Amino acid sequence: MNDINFDFTDRAYFVSGGSRGIGRAIVEALARAGASCAVTYRRNDDEHMHSWAAELSRGGVRVLPLRLDVRDPEAVRETVATAVTQLGKLDGLVNNAGITRDEISLSMANSSWLEVIETNLNGSFFLAREVLKGLVRRKSGRIVNIASVSGITGLPGQSNYCASKGGLIAMTRALALEMARFNIQVNALAPGFIDTDMLQSLRENQRSGALQQVPGRRFGSAMEVAKAVMFMLSDAAAYMTGQTMVLDGGMTA
Ligand code: NDP
Repeated sequence: MNDINFDFTDRAYFVSGGSRGIGRAIVEALARAGASCAVTYRRNDDEHMHSWAAELSRGGVRVLPLRLDVRDPEAVRETVATAVTQLGKLDGLVNNAGITRDEISLSMANSSWLEVIETNLNGSFFLAREVLKGLVRRKSGRIVNIASVSGITGLPGQSNYCASKGGLIAMTRALALEMARFNIQVNALAPGFIDTDMLQSLRENQRSGALQQVPGRRFGSAMEVAKAVMFMLSDAAAYMTGQTMVLDGGMTA
């Protein structure tokens, strides 16, 4: 983060799926910039999450780990309420929790379709709805939805994932229009291939095929995504809303 200095002192954000990969990098970047964060995880180890959060919590920064399955709207309501109580307020939400269950559509299991839509799309909506209640009262705030280039272009074997991320991009536009009069900006970020556990789960031939699609022949890093999110949460992006920013090394160019 040395090359970009954001000052987010006294701000507080809710980041879903922050135990690994992109979400983890976003929380680390926010904490380094002085922001407190409620960070959710689903299966990760409690002890690991609490010791990581303690390392990041210093000065006025507080990192609060909360276990949450974003598919459960009642749990989302309770967890957002806990975050607001513990941190005093929220200035925004990063909807990052997401999964893939790649299968060719003709043989895709119902569970693979439903799990992806419920996590990536329904979960993001449930979280946005809860966090927005506080932002509307305060008449300010930001939401960044982590979509994917798969929500813009099709990818074979990912009809569930493409639908979830395309839906998230469409939802971003609608929320942006609803929220503009409350001074709340809602945008999406569409990364290409980013080197996290999600990419590691691909077979070697799939990984090398993926690399061939990127003009610069390298995958992006989680911290590169985090830096883009920091920009989208910063004052520099105050006049940007309803947009999808693509960060894919030229893959869709
Ligand atoms: P990872 O698989 O590394 O991490 C996913 C995170 O989501 C974990 O923290 C996981 O928690 C959490 N999570 C999964 N399911 C749920 C759920 N039901 N409720 C709450 N949390 C959940 O993924 P990435 O960091 O790679 O991806 C982050 C986001 O970026 C996703 O939305 C993904 O679709 C998107 N993206 C990723 C790209 C890539 O190439 N990596 C490219 C484009 C977009 P836990 O660890 O506890 O299981």
